[in-house]
Amino acid sequence: MRNFLKNLVATFVCLSGMPFLIRELICRDRIAILMYHDPKPTAFAKHIAYLSRHCTIVSLDTLVSAVHRKDFSQIPPKSVVITIDDGHAGNFKLLPIFKQYQIRPTLYVCTQIVSTHRHFWFKIDGQSKKEKERLKRLSNAERLTRLKRTVDFEPEKTYPDRQAFNVAEMREMAERVDFQPHTRFHPILTRCTEAECEQEILGSKSDLESLLGVECLHFSYPNGDYTEREVQIVKAGGFRSARTTEIGWNTLDTPPYQLNAVPITDNAGLMLFRAELTTIPQRLSRWVTSLSRSNER
Ligand SMILES: [Zn+2]
Repeated sequence: MRNFLKNLVATFVCLSGMPFLIRELICRDRIAILMYHDPKPTAFAKHIAYLSRHCTIVSLDTLVSAVHRKDFSQIPPKSVVITIDDGHAGNFKLLPIFKQYQIRPTLYVCTQIVSTHRHFWFKIDGQSKKEKERLKRLSNAERLTRLKRTVDFEPEKTYPDRQAFNVAEMREMAERVDFQPHTRFHPILTRCTEAECEQEILGSKSDLESLLGVECLHFSYPNGDYTEREVQIVKAGGFRSARTTEIGWNTLDTPPYQLNAVPITDNAGLMLFRAELTTIPQRLSRWVTSLSRSNER
C-alpha cells in the first residue's frame, strides 16, 4: 500500500512539472546530498545516468569546503553529492558504475561491522518494523539486552553469512570511493551514554583511518539522530562535517555538522527517483508517519 501511494504521489509530482521547476529554479544554489543504503546496480545505474544528464555530481569534500568557506562559486549549479550508508555488502557491485561515470561517492560505514561476519542489528531476521522502531527508542543498554533476549543478537557475534563488504573489497573500491565513518555498530547515539557516544564516534574514526591509512573527516549520524552533544563530540573529534537525515538541500547557511540529506528509495524506478529529487514524496511520507505516531499516543 505504502509503495502504491509513493508511486502515485511520484506520478503527480512528475506530471506537475515540479522536477524540472525545482531543478532549474531552486537547485541553482542549493546542493542535494542524496542518501542511499543498499541499491541494486540496475536501479542505481539508471539514477546516475539521469543525474549525469541533468546535474553535476560533486564530491562531499567539495561541498563541505564550500560550506566552510561560505562560497559556492566553485560548485556548478545543479550539483548533487552521492552518499551511501552503513557498508552493505551489495555496495561492492556498484563499483563498475562509479568507474563508468567517474564519480567518487561517499560511503559511510560501520567500522566494526565492515570486514567482519558481524551483522547489523536492524537487519536481524524476525523483527517487525514496529519492533525496530521500538528498539530505537530504548536506551542503548536496554536495546542490546532486548536484542539478546528476543533474537539472540550481540554486536560482536559472528554469523556464517556476511552483511557488509570486506577489506579486500574496500581496498578495491578505495580509488573510486570516499570511505567515512558512521559509528562502529550503528547505535542510536542519542540513546547512548556520553562515554558510549564518544567511543562510537571517535572509535569509528580511528578504526577506519588505521584500516585504510587515510584521514577521515566526515561523519553521518546513524538513523539521523543527534543532539548538541553529538555535534560537539564530532566537532571536537576533528571532523569537518556531519550529515543528518533532515530532508532538504544545503546552502551557504547550512551548519557543516548538520548537513541535510535527500533520502532516495534504493531501487526506485525513474519516475519515483525524479519525484524524490524534489523531496516532495519524502516530506509527505514523514508527515504521514508523524501523524500516525501522534495518533498512537
Ligand atoms: Zn545508517
